Amino acid sequence: MPSPGKLLVVSGPSGVGKSTVVRKVLERYRGQLRLSISATTRQPRPGEQDGVDYHFLSDSDFLQRQAAGEFLECIEVFSQGHWYGTPWSEVRPFLAEGKWVLLEIDVDGAQHVLDSFPRAVTVFIQPASLSELERRLRARGTEGQEAIERRLSVAKHELALAERYQYQVVNDTVAKATEDICRILQDQDLTEK
Ligand code: ADP
Ligand code: 5GP
Repeated sequence: MPSPGKLLVVSGPSGVGKSTVVRKVLERYRGQLRLSISATTRQPRPGEQDGVDYHFLSDSDFLQRQAAGEFLECIEVFSQGHWYGTPWSEVRPFLAEGKWVLLEIDVDGAQHVLDSFPRAVTVFIQPASLSELERRLRARGTEGQEAIERRLSVAKHELALAERYQYQVVNDTVAKATEDICRILQDQDLTEK
């Protein structure tokens, strides 16, 4: 029996660059670190694929799965009627194989995860500044004005809770933020292959 794996929880405000940096980290730890693919009721963005970026579910399907206890945690993230959740099926089998599982989730979801997995390693990705965060959100071009404003207001709530995380990483450049997270994993005895 391999020793059980661990969870790496990565949070940070929308638009800070989580997905971009996480993709780079995953490339460095292929085979040992696996991304948990969340379920969501929001619409796919152009280019997003079901089962790759998210499991895109209808509201009723999501509710049914929630009632059946299929989520480790789930939450309505932007108070906009869009639900996000971590399916147990994305976590349990891989931990049992001794793999690390990376969860890219919001601060409230992260708190729920810590209740079940107090040894989870937690990383908060910080923007260089609020104005740079806003610039990136606008430059991504995936949300309208109202959604951007909602995300920026949620960002302030998330930044205020950042100190709950074990590690803070500033996403100034993608290369440096990737390097910082890889160093954290090395400190946790996860070596690159
Ligand atoms: P998140 O997953 O946190 O919502 P994304 O990874 O989608 O954020 O990044 C938001 C936007 O910022 C994207 O257009 C991405 O290409 C860009 N971006 C990410 N990291 C950086 C960086 N270090 N410098 C400049 N732009 C970045
Ligand atoms: P987006 O819509 O930009 O893909 O994600 C919006 C927010 O939802 C991000 O802060 C992201 O971390 C969070 N999120 C994505 N999946 C989950 C999940 O499974 N659980 C929780 N709690 N948050 C999630």
